[in-house]
Amino acid sequence: MAEGAETVKVQPLRVLLQPVGDNDWHLLTQLALQLPQHLPFVQCQTAAKALPLPPSAVTLRRQWLANVLLAHLVVPAGFDRVIGVTQVDLVVPPLNFVFGLAELSGQRAVISLARLKHPNDEDLTLLRALKEALHELGHTLGLQHCPNPWCVASFSNSLADTDRKGPQFCAACYHRLLVAWQRLCLRAE
Ligand SMILES: [Zn+2]
Ligand SMILES: [Zn+2]
Repeated sequence: MAEGAETVKVQPLRVLLQPVGDNDWHLLTQLALQLPQHLPFVQCQTAAKALPLPPSAVTLRRQWLANVLLAHLVVPAGFDRVIGVTQVDLVVPPLNFVFGLAELSGQRAVISLARLKHPNDEDLTLLRALKEALHELGHTLGLQHCPNPWCVASFSNSLADTDRKGPQFCAACYHRLLVAWQRLCLRAE
């Protein structure tokens, strides 16, 4: 290595999937396996124990305030990001519901499986969960919504939108993610 050359210590982005409330542990295990296949710099694990649903987050319509759930998530030592996964329906008023929520350029995100479940197609349910997890993880790395409807960073207003987009980021979003990750690696040195 030439003297003075800058070296970046490459470190994986360590993501914890944190179940919140009752959960589908089989799906969580599959999700933890699949996330790194779509974002190769990610290392993913599932927390051993679920967090309880915060009682203060429930609304009169039996939905749960996504921002309150998000605020209850903790990024444990040894992790860079936490994604809460819940089966209850999430909402951010005045919207009717949300599939998930994330801190933009932050460390925490939450996704709901409530509207993603297909009654008899587990693979489709998993694929939808994967897309939502990738989408919210993208926000934590600074991604805004992408105008490309096939990009996983595009906004989902309905399940049809989620099913239309692929589990991939477009080239522009993927590049932004790589830059964000490299910045994190530099900061960690
Ligand atoms: Zn979004
Ligand atoms: Zn994109």
